[in-house]
Amino acid sequence: MSIKLSFPDGSIREVEQGISVLDVAKSISNSLSKNAVAGKLNGSLVSVNTAIKADAAIEIVVKNSDEGNVIVWNTAAVLLNSAIKTIYPNVHFGTIGDIEHGFYVDTDKNDQQISVDELPAIEDTMKDLVKSKINLKPDQISEKEALEIVDGDPYQAQIIKEHAKDGSVQVYQVNDNVIISDAVVLPNSGDVKALRLLSVAGAYWQGKSSNPMLQRIYGTAFLKQKDLEVELERQKEARERDHRVIGNNLDLFFVDPKVGAGLPYWMPNGATIRRTIERYIVDKEVQNGYSHVYTPVLMNLDAYKTSGHWQHYREDMFPPMDMGDGELLELRPMNCPSHIQVYKHHIRSYRELPIRIAELGMMHRYEKSGALSGLQRVREMTLNDGHTFVTPDQIQDEFKDILRLMVDVYADFDIKDYSFRLSYRDPENTEKYFDDDEIWNHSQSMLKGAMDDLGLDYVEAEGEAAFYGPKLDVQTKTAMGNEETLSTIQLDFMLPKQFDLHYVGADGEEHRPVMIHRGLVSTMERFTAYLTEIYKGAFPTWLAPKQVTIIPVNDELHGEYADQLQKKLAGNNVRVSVDHRNEKMGYKIREAQTQKIPYILVVGDSELESDLVSVRKYGEENSTSVSSDKFIQDIQNEINNYSRK
Ligand code: ATP
Ligand code: ZN
Repeated sequence: MSIKLSFPDGSIREVEQGISVLDVAKSISNSLSKNAVAGKLNGSLVSVNTAIKADAAIEIVVKNSDEGNVIVWNTAAVLLNSAIKTIYPNVHFGTIGDIEHGFYVDTDKNDQQISVDELPAIEDTMKDLVKSKINLKPDQISEKEALEIVDGDPYQAQIIKEHAKDGSVQVYQVNDNVIISDAVVLPNSGDVKALRLLSVAGAYWQGKSSNPMLQRIYGTAFLKQKDLEVELERQKEARERDHRVIGNNLDLFFVDPKVGAGLPYWMPNGATIRRTIERYIVDKEVQNGYSHVYTPVLMNLDAYKTSGHWQHYREDMFPPMDMGDGELLELRPMNCPSHIQVYKHHIRSYRELPIRIAELGMMHRYEKSGALSGLQRVREMTLNDGHTFVTPDQIQDEFKDILRLMVDVYADFDIKDYSFRLSYRDPENTEKYFDDDEIWNHSQSMLKGAMDDLGLDYVEAEGEAAFYGPKLDVQTKTAMGNEETLSTIQLDFMLPKQFDLHYVGADGEEHRPVMIHRGLVSTMERFTAYLTEIYKGAFPTWLAPKQVTIIPVNDELHGEYADQLQKKLAGNNVRVSVDHRNEKMGYKIREAQTQKIPYILVVGDSELESDLVSVRKYGEENSTSVSSDKFIQDIQNEINNYSRK
């Protein structure tokens, strides 16, 4: 009997019923069959050996594709599970599978604590499994049989119950071990030519912090040694940029789950960077017509019911505080309702519009514990927030002004690697998006027109708009390669209605303003994390926590001159200290370099005699000798121009 297969290019072929995915690939070309690592039938991944029983849409999954990598990583996860089972027969297993850039296996550390020192031995056992070229054919066994095999392992038992289909689960037999896994893997263990176990970290069972903490063993694997090397190099580079590592080395901040997960403590160095960013941004916004305000972090829950956050955003909000007298107070997850109160406090005339209200607004969001990451994703954050209230015909000009300001700010921080994304509604999705074609079409084309007028490149994303209006996002990449939104401009036609906002028009009548939400540099937390990564911790002088360190050649002879110099610099708003410690000069210089301090000033006899300083700039080999006044003038220029030399 023959069946019909349809291919991604639209072509349709008749084949024998029962043909394997691999044979389909072979029938197309030899090279395709050599590259095939799995198949996709009607959108679901299947092994290359799967026999195709009925008409289907088929795709061949090839090596080095995103899905191809996932197949390799799941294969490695099965091998890791088996290797651990062989070495530690009594250990209990949580979940196993692929993650970004690799694979993992969770085990119960109460049965067996596994340290990084043990990873090479486990890796060797995995490599033996690769060498033995084990046939990895998926099998189905009954739920009952599977439960017997896992023999009292509570996590595996739960996995079996949750994953059983028609009373059976999928397993792979690896030598004597039966591994329970739904995943599609390579047909033979021998194909995983290159693998590496990388680290061990804690992971809650099923990602819930109320569950026991398991240990997660991470690794990565490829079909070729070369690909593994490229990935290890990428990871090394990412670690060097990782703001959590740099944040620790430079003593910028810490987060301690024991005193509050996702609640960062800014140490003096990090606080200095943040304060500098905050002063910069407030000054910049005030220069550009924004009025800065302070509003409370707590608000009556009713405001969030009016805004719709309570209905649509509750999962990300902290539970309300019941004050016992009928009042429910909420930690705000956004500042919009607060700024609306500021707008509403007076009757507004069209002559005052646009009204731009800004704040470094502290907000709280109950992010999932597994998603928290250093300063990049936290639960308490301060957003560089602003809301502009405009008449409908002011939207485009205001949008352009915000964009110009944004690009200007990016230049001062030397941010170059970013892209714009315009998000529109999906006109089919009337459940999410309010039903007013005219408003949507008009506002979307206005944003697009503004981007074109300014000559900026952008991508368009249908169905990515907020439910209340179209938006522009600025996308950047973290050191780990994840895309994240840094800045955003969002039009809002809903909140002004919900809160019944108006202004008095030229006609003396009441009109509804449009609200624009905008964040230039995101939250102080995410922005500091981002800057730390792009600068690799070597902050430009204007942002550096310490800008200058003075090292006396001999503290007894030159310490006093160093102190005078320090006072003079500090009096000119330079962040400076003297290293009086009883250490060798070379040691002090090296340490100042690891701390990435922009300037080292060495002072000895000749400097003292002629009021000079010997200046060494971070990243440069040679020193230059200048008068202290000239140095002060130069560094002030550099700071005032936000220079990045
Ligand atoms: P995300 O998709 O990253 O969760 P969001 O779309 O919910 O963000 P907005 O409500 O637009 O974000 O918040 C404004 C900005 O605040 C975001 O662009 C982002 O840069 C930043 N931000 C959001 N959540 C966090 C967080 N948990 N920690 C630090 N910064 C955050
Ligand atoms: Zn807002």
